[in-house]
Amino acid sequence: MTRKILVTSALPYANGSIHLGHMVEHIQTDVWVRFQKLRGHECHYCCADDTHGTPVMLAAQKQGIAPEDMIAKVREEHLADFTGFHIGYDNYYSTHSPENKQFSEQIYRALKANGKIESRVIEQLFDPEKQMFLPDRFVKGECPKCHAQDQYGDNCEVCGTTYSPTELINPYSAVSGAKPELRESEHFFFKLGECAGYLKEWTSGNNPHDGKPHLQAEALNKMKEWLGEGEETTLSDWDISRDAPYFGFEIPDAPGKYFYVWLDAPVGYMASFKNLCDRIGVDFDEYFKADSQTEMYHFIGKDILYFHALFWPAMLHFSGHRAPTGVYAHGFLTVDGQKMSKSRGTFITAKSYLEQGLNPEWMRYYIAAKLNSKIEDIDLNLQDFISRVNSDLVGKYVNIAARASGFIAKRFEGRLKDVSGSALLAKLAAESDTIAEQYENREYARALRDIMALADAVNEYVDANKPWELAKQEGQDERLHEVCSELINAFTMLTAYLAPVLPQTAANAARFLNLDAITWANTRETLGEHAINKYEHLMQRVEQKQVDDLIEANKQSIQTTPASAAEEGKYEKVAEQASFDDFMKIDMRVAKVLNCEAVEGSTKLLKFDLDFGFEKRIIFSGIAASYPNPAELNGRMVIAVANFAPRKMAKFGVSEGMILSAATAEGKLKLLDVDAGAQPGDKVG
Ligand SMILES: [Zn+2]
Repeated sequence: MTRKILVTSALPYANGSIHLGHMVEHIQTDVWVRFQKLRGHECHYCCADDTHGTPVMLAAQKQGIAPEDMIAKVREEHLADFTGFHIGYDNYYSTHSPENKQFSEQIYRALKANGKIESRVIEQLFDPEKQMFLPDRFVKGECPKCHAQDQYGDNCEVCGTTYSPTELINPYSAVSGAKPELRESEHFFFKLGECAGYLKEWTSGNNPHDGKPHLQAEALNKMKEWLGEGEETTLSDWDISRDAPYFGFEIPDAPGKYFYVWLDAPVGYMASFKNLCDRIGVDFDEYFKADSQTEMYHFIGKDILYFHALFWPAMLHFSGHRAPTGVYAHGFLTVDGQKMSKSRGTFITAKSYLEQGLNPEWMRYYIAAKLNSKIEDIDLNLQDFISRVNSDLVGKYVNIAARASGFIAKRFEGRLKDVSGSALLAKLAAESDTIAEQYENREYARALRDIMALADAVNEYVDANKPWELAKQEGQDERLHEVCSELINAFTMLTAYLAPVLPQTAANAARFLNLDAITWANTRETLGEHAINKYEHLMQRVEQKQVDDLIEANKQSIQTTPASAAEEGKYEKVAEQASFDDFMKIDMRVAKVLNCEAVEGSTKLLKFDLDFGFEKRIIFSGIAASYPNPAELNGRMVIAVANFAPRKMAKFGVSEGMILSAATAEGKLKLLDVDAGAQPGDKVG
C-alpha cells in the first residue's frame, strides 16, 4: 500500500548561518524521506526559514535594512547550504508568507472560539529608550544568586540559576543599555493547562497505522514530568502575544499585538506544505483534517521538544486539525568529544565545508553512521571521520565497481551475464527487509553496519575468486564473466542500500549501471543480461589536509568574536596554584602617566612615559586597540610591574616594565586604576 507522508525538519532561524549541528537533523530527515521515496511512497518533505521575532528585527535594524530583505537573503543562503548537502526538500519556504499568516489567524480564531484563549495584564520590563518591551534574553544584569555580572534575564550562565528578569540586580537593556522600567501590558494566553488531559493521552499514545508510539520513550518521560501525574497538571498557560514593535503577524482584532514567533513557527510546516500542494496539485485537507489517514512526522532537536510535543499537538487538536503521527527528537552534535567551539575551529559552517571542497556525502555517511532512534548526543570524531569514510565508502564499497568494471568493458563488451542464481547475491538480497526496517525505525547506524558487513562479504568473494588471476588463465572466460557480473550486481544492491544516505553517488552509479534510477527493488533484484556504461570514478578519499584546512578556516579567535566568549563560558580558567613567595617576587607599583601616545609603525603598541616616583620610565603596552585616543590617558594612575628585565621592542625602543590591565571576555583590555590618595611609586600587594 502506498503511504501518504508529510515530513518536516525544524525551521532554522533566519539570523545566523547553517552549521553541522543543523546538518545532523536535516541529514537525519533527508535519509528517512529518501528511503520512503525509494520504497515508492508518496512522501513530501517541507521546511522553511523561521523568520519572526525580536532577534531578527534587531539584527535587520543593525544592518540598516528591512527585516523582509534580511530574511530573503538569509533564506537563500540557508537553502544553498542545505542543497549543497543534497537535502532534498520538496519545499523550502518562509514563515513570513501569506499562507502562514492565514493559518496562524485561522488556528488562533478556532482556539479562541473553543474558549482556549484568554487575555491577562502582565508586568514586563520595558526599554524606555528603544520604546519596546524586552524579551528575557534582551535584559541583562547581576545574578541575584551568585552576583555574576552581565547575566541574561532568564538564567545565569555562571551558577545555572533560573529566575525572572525582574529579579536581576541592576538590570539593563541589552539593546540600548538603558535601565528598564516595569510596565503593564495586555497579553494573550493559550490555556494549555486545560489541554493537559488531551496531551496526557496524546503523548503516551500510539499511531493507529502501525501501533508505534508518537514519542520516543525518553521524550515521553520528559512529558510526564512536565504534564504532572494523574488528574493534576503542572502545565502552565502559554503567553502567545508580543507587543509592537515586533516583526511578525499582527493578531486579529488586537492592534499592536503580535503572535509570538513560537506560535507561527510550527504553523510554518502547514504553510510550506500548502504552498507545495497548490503548486503540485496535492489535496492539502486530506493531510490536515482532523480524521486524516495520512502520516505526519516532525524531526527536531531535543531542545524544542516542549514546543513540538505539547504546544503544537494542542494547537492542532483544539483548532480542529489532526495531530502529528510522530515527533522524533535527536541529540546535539559534539566535535572530538567537546561542544562545538569557534576558537577551536570546530564550529563548522555548512558553507565552509562546501567551500573547502569536501564531499558532502562523506559527512552524510558519517553522521548517518552515528544516528539511532534515541535522543543521544552524537560525536564527530575527526580522525574517525577520515578513517571510516575511507575504509567503508572508498575501500569497501566503491572499490567493488572499480575492480570488476574494467573486465566487463574490455573482455565482454560491457555486457553482464545473468547471475540470478548467485549465492552471494542471494545473501545480499536476503537483508532487504531487515535493512528497510532499520531505516524505517531511524536505526541508521545499525543499517549501515549491516550494509558494510555485506560489503565485507563481497570483498571476501573478490579475494577468494581473484578476477585478475582468472583473467590471465586459459579457458576461464566464462568464470571471469560470471564473477565480474556478480560483483557489478552486488555493487548495484549495495548502492540501493546506501542510496538514502548517498543520493549523488547513487545517481552517478545509476548512469554507470545504465539504469534510469536506483530504487529499493534493486536491493533484491539482479540485473540479468544487461549492458552497462563505462565506469567513472565515484568517490575520492578524504585527506587529512582537507580536514586540517577545514578546521583552520573555521577558527575565529576569541579576540575578534565577542559572541563566542558567551558560548564557551565567559571566564578564563584560573591559573595553577601559586605561593605567597611566588607572588612577592613580582614588584608592582603605582605609576602616573606623564604622556601616552601611539607608536608609529605599530597598530598594537602605545608608548607610556611614566612617573614611578623614584624614577621615570618608558613602557610600551599592547593596548592600542582598546584605547584609540591615547592622550586621554595622560595624568591618570596605572599599576605596573617594576622589576621585569628591560625588553627591546623591535625597532621601537626598550620597555622598562609591564602595565597591568584586565582582559575582558570580548577581548578588550582595560587598565587598572587606584583610588585617590595613592602616589607614584607606592607598592601594590
Ligand atoms: Zn549566578
